[in-house]
Parts: sequence; structure tokens; C-alpha cells
Amino acid sequence: MTLHQAPGTPGSVLTFRPRYDNWIGGEWKAPVEGRYFENPTPVTGEVFTEVARSTAADVDLALDAAHAAAPAWGRTAPAERAAVLGAIADRIEAHLTELAVAEVWDNGKPIREALTADLPLAADHLRYFASAIRAQEGALSQLDEDTVAYHFHEPLGVVGQIIPWNFPLLMAVWKLAPALAAGNAVVLKPAEQTPASVLHLMDLIGDLLPPGVVNVVSGFGVEAGKPLASSPRIAKVAFTGETTTGRLIMQYASQNIIPVTLELGGKSPNVFFEDVAAARDEFYDKALEGFAMFALNQGEVCTCPSRALIQSSVYDSFLGDALERTRAIRQGHPLDTATMIGAQASNDQLEKILSYIEIGRAEGAKLLTGGERVDLGGALSGGYYVAPTVFEGDNGMRIFQEEIFGPVVAVTRFDGFDDAMAIANDTLYGLGAGVWTRDVHRAYRAGRAIQAGRVWTNCYHAYPAHAAFGGYKNSGIGREGHRMVLDHYQQTKNLLVSY
Ligand code: NAD
Repeated sequence: MTLHQAPGTPGSVLTFRPRYDNWIGGEWKAPVEGRYFENPTPVTGEVFTEVARSTAADVDLALDAAHAAAPAWGRTAPAERAAVLGAIADRIEAHLTELAVAEVWDNGKPIREALTADLPLAADHLRYFASAIRAQEGALSQLDEDTVAYHFHEPLGVVGQIIPWNFPLLMAVWKLAPALAAGNAVVLKPAEQTPASVLHLMDLIGDLLPPGVVNVVSGFGVEAGKPLASSPRIAKVAFTGETTTGRLIMQYASQNIIPVTLELGGKSPNVFFEDVAAARDEFYDKALEGFAMFALNQGEVCTCPSRALIQSSVYDSFLGDALERTRAIRQGHPLDTATMIGAQASNDQLEKILSYIEIGRAEGAKLLTGGERVDLGGALSGGYYVAPTVFEGDNGMRIFQEEIFGPVVAVTRFDGFDDAMAIANDTLYGLGAGVWTRDVHRAYRAGRAIQAGRVWTNCYHAYPAHAAFGGYKNSGIGREGHRMVLDHYQQTKNLLVSY
């Protein structure tokens, strides 16, 4: 059933602005050079709005506004900041359908994901950090009879945040919530592929924040992202995106000796031990569902379980059932609530995925299902749809080692526990992993042995606000989620007093 109309058409809950300027100092400001770029929807391939093509001059204006706002915002009581975050969460929930349609139109994801996962999670992160900042305590240590050390938390000041296109609204909120809770002002740059939903969010929540506390500057990586990340006027840069870009961000930050948070790529192993198939029960069904998670959000997830490792003794039967489950993933109009997989976020991404499918074939991997672009007909013919794709091969192949960021899983077999762990860890990345077993001892050992920041055990793709999330190895530095992130956005002041 299609519940929602395309933005701007009769009956739709949402109309985008035909043109978006930058959100700076609490108002819309045209880009200094007066240039805009076109933003197509992945759903149909048609342009639906145009967006400011910002340069260093726009970043400077945003930094001016942020610096003007930061001191007063940093001095507000935690309870006051918590109230603002709570109000933003309320506003997101009050406009849930509208924001979900915005996200679908900008990114191509199925609306059920936006409605049931991305946006509720965003609201929950805001509330979590609102509570965390109120619960944060300072510390005092008595050094001797007359000497006391006080530890204070202070905001960093103005921080730069740069986000990717796969979860535009959720990524924005993940970054904004702890930064604002800790008392910082922010300049945020959304990805050039998906700027519209974040800009629409500012239309909805802009009045809740003091002018200049949040500024959104859109544009391309080198033109707008680099001036932000390399500015001597930011006290920290938080970045989510590709590992290659993360290296550049670290280089920029090193010039200014500022901290970085990097949430980068992944090639996550999903390990299925033989006892999963001990019975054809609810647990077995859940494991099959866990396998099919590679297609969630069209595979455009940094923790996409893009490598499935299945124990040899149950390999053929489990893989057979997993393929059946994969073929049942319903692809369709992203605004249709029954749709499980929508459109890839951009034409470039579509091309990249198709090229990796060719690479897989060329290096001798066996294509078991999918492997092609999908034409959904009518207006959707111009959209960027790919069939969920399963390859079988060897962990040394490029499709096992390189991040495809699409609905493609590469499957291989293992013999025993050590073999499984060796294959799981044979990757440059270390972001996510899945372990499926009925044996609690094996689950624990595997969870500890896999070198990744998040190991889901008998579940996958859950992102609660209180659970720290981030990468080992080339997958990044720092964490998101969990109250520890407040420390990433604060200075520690030590006041040593001799009475
Ligand atoms: P990307 O690195 O190409 O771009 C990310 C952002 O960085 C965009 O806003 C872009 O404009 C900007 N950017 C590009 N070059 C820049 C430069 N030189 N200086 C400053 N900014 C620059 O990544 P992407 O293709 O948008 O996103 C996909 C990647 O993000 C994947 O690798 C995925 O794994 C990763 N990702 C990681 C997480 C995580 O939490 N670890 C979450 C989501 C996505």
C-alpha cells in the first residue's frame, strides 16, 4: 500500500523549497558566490530542488555566527540545553511522516526504515544526551590536608561536523546531540548527495535554537568540507565517511592540533556457527533474517554485514535457506510501506555497485542471486535500483576486502572456531560484526576475538543511544553513542587549589 505522495504533489505531507540557501546565524543566507547545484531524487532520478554550492567564504560566515553564539550557549545550565534537545526531539516526532518522506526523497531508502528506525532513533539520541548532560558530574580530589583538585567540564567552543549520505538525518542528529548537550556551537556540512532532508529539518527546528548555535553549510567535499575541516577556527572536527577521506581530515586537523572523531568504512563479517541449524525454529529464522540484513538500507550502511561466514557442516542447507530469504526481500517504490529495499542514494553509487558486481564475476566469484540493476517501470525507471546480490567466493577476493556499500554480500565457508576468527579478522576494517550461535560460551569467545568496535550476538543492526559505537583499525577513531561521547566534545579543566 502506498500511503504517501511524492513531495510537492497534491496530498503530500511535504513540499521542499525549490532552492535551499545555507542556514547561518538562525536564517537562510544565499551563498556568497551565488552558485547552486541540482539535487536529484534517487527514487526517480529527477531533480527536485537546488542547493547552495558553498565555498570557504560561506564556511567563514557560518564560523562567525557560531563564534558569536558559542560563549553564551556554553554558559547555559545543562538543564536549559537539555530542554532544547528535548524540544527538538518532540518536534521531530510531531513531524515524523513529513521528515520520513523528506529522507526517502533525498536518499532513496524505504519509508518504513525512516519511520520505524532512523527518526525514532534520532529523537532518542537527543533525549539520551539531554539526560546524560544533566547527569554528568564533576570531580574533586583532596591531595593533602590543604590542597584540592577540581575537575571541570568545559565546552570546546565551535566544532565542525561533516556527514555522509546514507543516513542523512540520523547522522546529523548523532553528531549534533552530544555536541550541543556539551555546550558547543556547530557548523555542519551535509553530504552533497543528500542535503535536502537536513536543510528541511532546519526549517522545522530552527526556531528552537539560539541563532548561530547550529549552522548548516551545504556543498561539495573539497569546496566546502575542506575549508571547514582545515579551519583554525574550529576546536574539533567530527567526520563520518570514507576511510580515504578520513585520512585527509586527520591531516587537516593535525595542522591545528585539534581532536578528530572519525567514523569510517567497514567490511563486517557475519559468522554463522553450525549449531544455528540445530533446529528449524524461531532462532533459525532470526539467523536467516540476520543474513538478509546485508540489504538493509540498500546495503549503504557502514556496518553492512557484507561478508557472511558459514560453517562447512551446514553450509549448503543454510545458504539455500538464506538465498530463499534474500529473494523474498521486497523491492519497490520507496514510499510504499511494504517496500523493504529502495533506491541507491546516487547514480555514482549505483555505478560503483554495478562495477563491483563485474569485479566479482571477473575474479571468479560465483553469482548466486541478483547481480543486476532493476527497472521498476513507470516513473521509477530512472531511479537507482539494484537487486539484492549474493556471491560465493574466497576472502582474498576484492569483493570480500573492499567496501562496496550496496546490497551485495560475499559468502564463504569455515571449518572450526579459529578458522572463523582468522577469516573474520582478515580485513583492514573493524567496525561491526555478527555472531550467530546457540552456545553462550562460543558467543562470548567470538565476541571477544573479533577485532571490531561493535559485535552483535544473535542480532544485527541495532543502534541504541547508550551503546558506544565506533571502529577498530581503519574504521575510525572515537565513538558515537554512549555518554562517553560528551568527553569527546569537552575540555577538562583542572583547578588545583591550595587553601
Ligand atoms: P565521503 O568520504 O565521500 O564523504 C563524506 C563527507 O565528507 C561528505 O559530506 C563529503 O562532502 C565530505 N568530504 C569529501 N571530501 C572531503 C574533503 N577533502 N574534506 C572535507 N570533507 C570532505 O563518504 P560518503 O561516500 O559520503 O559516505 C560513505 C562512507 O561513509 C562509507 O565508507 C561508509 O562506510 C562511511 N560511513 C561510516 C559510518 C560510521 O559510523 N563508521 C556511518 C555511515 C557511513
